Amino acid sequence: MIISQQQSLLDFNSFSLDVKAHTLVTLASESDLADFVYQPDTPYFILAGGSNLLFCEDFNGVLIKPDFKGKAVVDEGDAWLITVGAGENWHDFVTWCLANGYHGLENLALIPGCVGATPVQNIGAYGVEVKDFIDSVKSYRLADGEWQTLSHQACQFAYRDSVFKHQYKNTHLIIEVTFRLPKQWQRTLNYGDLKQLPETASAQQIYDLVCQVRAEKLPDPNTLGNAGSFFKNPEVPAAQAQALAIAYPELPIYETGDENIKKLAAGWLIDQCGLKGRQIGGAQVHQKQALVLVNQGGATPKDVVELAWLVRNQVAERFGVLLEHEVRFIAAQGETTLDDMMLQLERNALAAEQDA
Ligand SMILES: Cc1cc2nc3c(=O)[nH]c(=O)nc-3n(C[C@H](O)[C@H](O)[C@H](O)COP(=O)(O)OP(=O)(O)OC[C@H]3O[C@@H](n4cnc5c(N)ncnc54)[C@H](O)[C@@H]3O)c2cc1C
Repeated sequence: MIISQQQSLLDFNSFSLDVKAHTLVTLASESDLADFVYQPDTPYFILAGGSNLLFCEDFNGVLIKPDFKGKAVVDEGDAWLITVGAGENWHDFVTWCLANGYHGLENLALIPGCVGATPVQNIGAYGVEVKDFIDSVKSYRLADGEWQTLSHQACQFAYRDSVFKHQYKNTHLIIEVTFRLPKQWQRTLNYGDLKQLPETASAQQIYDLVCQVRAEKLPDPNTLGNAGSFFKNPEVPAAQAQALAIAYPELPIYETGDENIKKLAAGWLIDQCGLKGRQIGGAQVHQKQALVLVNQGGATPKDVVELAWLVRNQVAERFGVLLEHEVRFIAAQGETTLDDMMLQLERNALAAEQDA
């Protein structure tokens, strides 16, 4: 177990925000878990690759970094069952699967972060969600050390959602994930740029194109801080989607599997408000991809929060659609929301005025 105090998080969040954590504990083995002492009154937050987080201020508690490694493959006849440590890098794992002939995950290539984080928000890209391949998730309850293996069903997967964002949020540490990859591989080519591939495209071709398109379209967090899509694609009643489609025939609308609910393209809504390139301090709506907020250099958490607020308000005013942030907001004591952070910033400004 590695423990560090007053740890700078600059290299631990893909937004590259200059914040600190009171304590960072890295856990990498069962003996580390046994040595870990849980204190009920301490704020805890689980930090993996930090690519889906916005630290809104210094974190005044203990960040737990799971670093469990390893892969094991079982031949189940019609499928490969692959169990992977939570701390393994996701893209490296996808690449390793491809190299070893285990197909299915190629549409999810180049998503930053660790394997253990993938079930949390049920990562998705190019028509595939990771839930499609998750067999079970092994977790460890921090408060009392209870081990649990959650079946696919028990994970309660939904669009960018799972039980790990609700009842099990920050209470259960994911230690390993078991994937089920059917040997009868079925390619998914019906999404965006993948439609240009032949019907006989190989998993390698899909992987190569996904990597190429992502590298072209998305800013690389190593050179331009960001946390990927900042907002979720909003789900709205079908009647509202229909009314919007009449007013805005170009608006991309996606099916959700429920005919009463449609999903709208958040990036398109933001772009239509003329917000690409809009900047507050060091935070900017990316010039090429409106759904991504970036750190142009020296952005403060406040810059990003205020920019997110502006984006959400403009979209709401113009389209009557309230965007929900996909990026997790982390305040001094734990997870928070855009609304609560704005309220806190307003209170701080008022207090500063009164002090002056
Ligand atoms: C450039 C870029 C592109 C992206 N593209 C996509 C995309 O196409 N699709 C997509 O879905 N996402 C995308 N993301 C978001 C992000 O990469 C994913 O959500 C990723 O799975 C987060 O992994 P992480 O290891 O960085 O997790 P973190 O950001 O560290 O954590 C994310 C959440 O998971 C929890 N968590 C992490 N590990 C564990 C664990 N072991 N046990 C319990 N809880 C845990 C954390 O507490 C936190 O709530 C993108 C991000 C960037 C920067």
